[in-house]
Amino acid sequence: MDSTALTRADAFHLLRQDLYGHLDETEYLAMKTAGWTETDADIARDVIPELVETIRQVFRVHTEAQPGTCDCGEPWPCRTVSAVHARLNATGSTTHALYVAGEQERVRLGRAQPHTAVIASDP
Ligand SMILES: [Zn+2]
Repeated sequence: MDSTALTRADAFHLLRQDLYGHLDETEYLAMKTAGWTETDADIARDVIPELVETIRQVFRVHTEAQPGTCDCGEPWPCRTVSAVHARLNATGSTTHALYVAGEQERVRLGRAQPHTAVIASDP
């Protein structure tokens, strides 16, 4: 491995550590065995929208650039979009349960409409 490749590998390793570090600290808050303090709840109220926005940003990068092709060059839906979709819809996941409950509530209120929110290209 030449020095450029080694440097690139180190940079990717640091990037991966940084990304996982952010997720680990966020997960740690959710997994605290002690009761949440008001500060913990405030942090959770801030971090949940930040994580949602992070996922929306991923979708901004992985859009169907041309019919059947993602911006990343893979066939649409690409592995990234498919992985997020599978995780959000996983049986027993809280995100899926929230989605189903929200749909049922909209039907109950007579406002059953599909989610049509556009993921803007600018945050
Ligand atoms: Zn993609």
